[in-house]
Amino acid sequence: MTHTASLEFLMGLQRLAAIVLLGGFALMLAAEWLRPAQGTAWDLRRLVHGGHNLLLWLLGIVAMSAVFGGMVWLLLQWMQFRRIGVLYYLPLPPWALAIAAFALLDAADYIFHRMSHNVRWLWLLHAVHHSDPRMDVTTNLRQHPFHLLATQAWKLLACAAIGVPAWVFLVHEILVLGFAHLHHAAVRWPAWIDPAFSWLLITPRLHWSHHSPRIARTNSNYGSLLSLWDRAFGTLTPPLPDAQPFGLQALTGSRWHSAWGMLVTPWRARRIRSL
Ligand SMILES: [Zn+2]
Repeated sequence: MTHTASLEFLMGLQRLAAIVLLGGFALMLAAEWLRPAQGTAWDLRRLVHGGHNLLLWLLGIVAMSAVFGGMVWLLLQWMQFRRIGVLYYLPLPPWALAIAAFALLDAADYIFHRMSHNVRWLWLLHAVHHSDPRMDVTTNLRQHPFHLLATQAWKLLACAAIGVPAWVFLVHEILVLGFAHLHHAAVRWPAWIDPAFSWLLITPRLHWSHHSPRIARTNSNYGSLLSLWDRAFGTLTPPLPDAQPFGLQALTGSRWHSAWGMLVTPWRARRIRSL
């Protein structure tokens, strides 16, 4: 591939990422309307809930643009050009390097998610995502802006350590974005989805288990795409049946669920021992 062609390919992948992010959200909203999960209803409270989650996400977008801007894209290309990362030192054909980079990048996501549950300051940020008592597609957007920034910084470090070609990063990112919508949407999925796909992938009900208020379940199923890492490190729990409670017992009051409440959760909740 010529340099221009590969640049066009990368730009196409970037556009696809934006389409999956926004189009996937709209698609899952429609699916929630057509096949709502048990116990979910389209009422005013749900609209308000979604509005606050969206507002938090918009603040996150502002923070990400202010800190990283177009830097991620440039850094990824620079790292590829300079062949930075362990995989570039191995005598691998390009296809094997791409597969290894994809799998290791997915493992890096697993590690960061697990750290987000076990390192106190990361957990205080990530708890904002977990505190949602009504899980739907907007829960996916409910991320503390500082957690988004920390995640992006981790991904860049992981790419530099592993040696990830820019297109592999983008393909992985597109799949993760799409799956994150699927994982959170309040959709009544057919029961066969879990046995059919959970051997390879994190299915929605496996991720629902991760949003259970029961701590043994919260601290499991960390994978974002492949279920391989949870299996390998013994953190996989069975899929959660429909209509189970979500959220965190320590953060149930309404003060934790407004956009402002979520923004200040890491500060307000820092001394709550049961969290
Ligand atoms: Zn989590």
